[in-house]
Amino acid sequence: MPDLLVGAMICAVALGLGFLAGSAYRASELRKTGEALEELRVKNRDLSRWLQEYKDIHARDSEIAILFPSIIRRLAERHPTDALPRVAVRLAKELFKTAQVALAVVKKDGALLVTEGVGIPPAWKGTLTLSPLDGMIGVAVREKILVLREEHVARQSRPELSDLERAGMVPDAVIPIVVEESVVAIIAVAGSAGRMDRDRPYASMLADLVANAFQISLAIEALEQRAMTDPLTGLYNRAYLADRFLVELRRARNYGFPMSVALFDIDRFKRINDRYGHPAGDAVLRKIGSFLRERTRSTDAVVRYGGEEFALLMATADSDVAFEQADRIRAELEKTPFVVPGQAEPVQVTMSGGVATYPQDGQVFSELIAVADAGLYHAKENGRNQVFASRTVELRPE
Ligand code: GH3
Ligand code: MG
Ligand code: MG
Repeated sequence: MPDLLVGAMICAVALGLGFLAGSAYRASELRKTGEALEELRVKNRDLSRWLQEYKDIHARDSEIAILFPSIIRRLAERHPTDALPRVAVRLAKELFKTAQVALAVVKKDGALLVTEGVGIPPAWKGTLTLSPLDGMIGVAVREKILVLREEHVARQSRPELSDLERAGMVPDAVIPIVVEESVVAIIAVAGSAGRMDRDRPYASMLADLVANAFQISLAIEALEQRAMTDPLTGLYNRAYLADRFLVELRRARNYGFPMSVALFDIDRFKRINDRYGHPAGDAVLRKIGSFLRERTRSTDAVVRYGGEEFALLMATADSDVAFEQADRIRAELEKTPFVVPGQAEPVQVTMSGGVATYPQDGQVFSELIAVADAGLYHAKENGRNQVFASRTVELRPE
């Protein structure tokens, strides 16, 4: 019997030990499972965050894929250079969904002038000047790179402020517009809804597109300028006169205004060349160009019409006003000797002129020019240094 008891006791102890060992094992398994679960939970959380970020990026990419073709299209349209800042500001606002955009152009002295913006005080436009040396603007201008606030702040222990911050705008990014290695403008954006760090490539793309648009419009304007300018005097040329005449004539017709044209021809200019030499003749022509510009309104077009012939297009001037203006210029020229390089004595010149006025002398360019030319011819015939208009003499050409 005791054997039986001992056996039973041994069994009980063994069972107890087995149970203890089993529960210890289960506890450690549970802990392991718990840890694994926690690990999975963390991983899951990270993955969800990652997925959200990915979705955001994807959503932004889709948005960009829709936005950029229209941005490219709008910048590829022909804009006068001075209209481009407004276009660029609108596009930056659309692209970055920012509360504030300011565009400042680099002036001749290197300082930046705020010319356009949205969400900024209107008084800044055309008045707020920014130093090209300080803060984020300084870095953007100097290094010709896009500067993000976060990076700028991280780079310096006490980040230097730019004039924009001093004026009250804290930019998230300053984007330089670089044309032929020079910064021509900066775009500053503040209060963006998106993340500028993620949008960096798009900001760079916008900067490149805006820079291209600037470059193209500057090149076109330079070509247009050259095509309508006389190289010797810097006055407008005959081609410009024909175009401008159409514009002014249309305006005169629409508003019922008169308009006049005067033609001048230097008297005996051949003698000037013969006496002082061709270069001196050129210098006289240049001086006559400045002389005419100084004595005319900014709305008048002063044109070198031919070799020593000049035209003056006087918008809104009637026959009396135009005649008086032309004759006054003639009389002043008579009293203005020109000092020419290489000549001890000043050169004295006179000119003859003819004036024609819309609507009484003609309805189109050719008719009006013919009447002005007839007046000029009449002045030459009558002894030169005079001006004639059809109201002073019958000038109807055959
Ligand atoms: P008129 O009073 O009849 O107009 O006499 P003119 O000598 O001015 O007229 P003409 O047409 O015989 O001569 C015009 C001169 O203008 C001849 C030409 O050498 C000169 N001329 C034309 N273009 C230029 C130019 O670009 N530079 C110089 N130096 N002379 C020019
Ligand atoms: Mg002539
Ligand atoms: Mg002449």
